[in-house]
Amino acid sequence: MPPSAIRIVVVVVVIVGILVGWGSGVFAKSIEATVMTPFEETFEISRADRDAGLRFAPSVKQADRDWFLAAIASARPEAQRLVAEVDGLVEVRMHRGDPFGVTIGTDEGFIIAVDVASLDRDRVQDRNVTVLHELGHVIDHALVPAGLNRTLDDGIPRSACTSPTEMIGGCTAPEERFADTFAKWALRGAVSQAGAGYAIPSPASLEDWGAPLGALAIDVATRG
Ligand SMILES: [Zn+2]
Repeated sequence: MPPSAIRIVVVVVVIVGILVGWGSGVFAKSIEATVMTPFEETFEISRADRDAGLRFAPSVKQADRDWFLAAIASARPEAQRLVAEVDGLVEVRMHRGDPFGVTIGTDEGFIIAVDVASLDRDRVQDRNVTVLHELGHVIDHALVPAGLNRTLDDGIPRSACTSPTEMIGGCTAPEERFADTFAKWALRGAVSQAGAGYAIPSPASLEDWGAPLGALAIDVATRG
């Protein structure tokens, strides 16, 4: 997409991983996280980008495109509406090996790359949550205003760190708390406890937590 297609209010660089193996006690993947602005303001998304759809890198096989799109289609309608608002900013790539999933913000949009070696083999059950988690990062940075970010983060229980690197559990970076909980909300809680994720505690009610996102979905869908 041309650099002028989006205007960046705050430049963010986000490199975030998603774990596999939590819950089974096996940390098969390392985590990468470079988070510069926890509650940044949002992009102004151009009309052209709103109208555009998700792009796949030419190297992404049709079968992998199919499950990526099926993961989006499995989300609740409000979440799909939010995805539809930002998907024109996203290029999907596949890679092999760590990290399990990664979302990188650039000054031209976002790159989401997922570990096709795992997701096509022994972690097929983690496809949906991985896709929605990574799209959650894009929605977070592109659509969710800072004030709503804070409100949503306040609604996610905090817990003691369960890792020496303090990247697992309720003390994880706000971006991961949002993305993880967004995926749970989008999938109506249908998230494997033993698969991908940060072991972040769920809000008492995912429905209540996600209500402002449902309102945001209506708001963006009715913007001129
Ligand atoms: Zn993440």
